[in-house]
Amino acid sequence: MTEERTPLDVLAIAAHPDDAEISAGGTIARLVEGGYRVGVLDLTRGEMGTRGTREDRQAEAEAASKVLGLRLRRNLGLPDGRVEATVEARERLAAILRLHTPRVVLAHHTDDPHPDHCAAGVLAQEAWYLSGLRRLAEQDGGPPAHRPARLYRFLSHTAFAPSLVVDVTRVFDRKLEAIRAYATQLEAQDPGDTGKHFLFGADLEQRVITKNRYHGESIGVEYGEPLLAEGPVSADCPLVAMLAAAPPGTSRDE
Ligand SMILES: [Zn+2]
Repeated sequence: MTEERTPLDVLAIAAHPDDAEISAGGTIARLVEGGYRVGVLDLTRGEMGTRGTREDRQAEAEAASKVLGLRLRRNLGLPDGRVEATVEARERLAAILRLHTPRVVLAHHTDDPHPDHCAAGVLAQEAWYLSGLRRLAEQDGGPPAHRPARLYRFLSHTAFAPSLVVDVTRVFDRKLEAIRAYATQLEAQDPGDTGKHFLFGADLEQRVITKNRYHGESIGVEYGEPLLAEGPVSADCPLVAMLAAAPPGTSRDE
């Protein structure tokens, strides 16, 4: 794992490779198009997944990172299916926040059927707080304390009333392309795989389209991704400012 000190504007913290793409891939693509530096930290390598080996999933995550134009992709190497909000894990995560100094963190909601997603949501919240403690940073001996200005929850399974909906219509094809990079997760690799182990149906892409269409409709656009903040969002929130500077119609290609 690289300790390279890549500064970031936004860091998405996800339990498994592909969670960040599924839940926030459009928001990430839009920020990257606007010239912002976005990274993804996966907490596990997804090795308990029914489909695909650890190596497959690493290659897929690398391909998806390229599609999205990520500055950084890291993996904390926690055990898949057994993610726990331990003191060790949250302090490692806090050290990563101090190292890459994101202004905004995107993370799982703590209400989710998958225990790894809940634990990842708790870990992100705890690390977000701890990353701002000067004494802890000094004890660690690494970079100084840095607490990102805001933490937003992204949508996995359990619905919530969003604080923001990000218009991802323009970048929606790129989001789907990033999700399709996880080929082992989309198609059965062996005849015994009926797809029945999926909690809400095997057609992942269709579920993403449905959810993003629903949230897009709520703000009058084709596709939207919901985000949830704790408490009211300041008009000066860095994420709001970044999205305002990267409106849905801009592209670095134009
Ligand atoms: Zn997941």
